[in-house]
Amino acid sequence: MSDCLFCKIVAGEVPATVVHETDHTLAFRDIAPKAPVHVLVIPREHHPDLAALAAADPGLGGQVLAAVAAVAEAEGLAADGYRTMFNTGRNAGQEVFHVHAHLLGGAPLGPMLAI
Ligand code: 5GP
Ligand code: ZN
Repeated sequence: MSDCLFCKIVAGEVPATVVHETDHTLAFRDIAPKAPVHVLVIPREHHPDLAALAAADPGLGGQVLAAVAAVAEAEGLAADGYRTMFNTGRNAGQEVFHVHAHLLGGAPLGPMLAI
């Protein structure tokens, strides 16, 4: 997708601080971190959201989850724990329509939701 921000990060056209990569996934630091560690984990291939990824290629979804766990381990989050979120659609406030897992940690994260 030529107009997709995260496809541009995959292509190296937009800079990002990459912390982990595999043949099929990429993980980079969120530009506006909401926790001491805030990493976005994406499939390299464009899928707009979790539902589209799950429908098209659930195995790739599993690779994204495996990458989340690998980054959590590498960032030192595994012992104390961390939170993983996929925002999907308007009510979740999804802003970038290339599916991504938010990996948040490095401090107690408070209640799950603030509504
Ligand atoms: P969403 O709201 O779609 O779940 O999350 C999108 C995330 O992408 C936000 O947390 C936002 O800070 C992050 N983001 C937006 N633009 C950029 C960018 O250019 N680079 C990086 N690294 N993160 C971005
Ligand atoms: Zn994309």
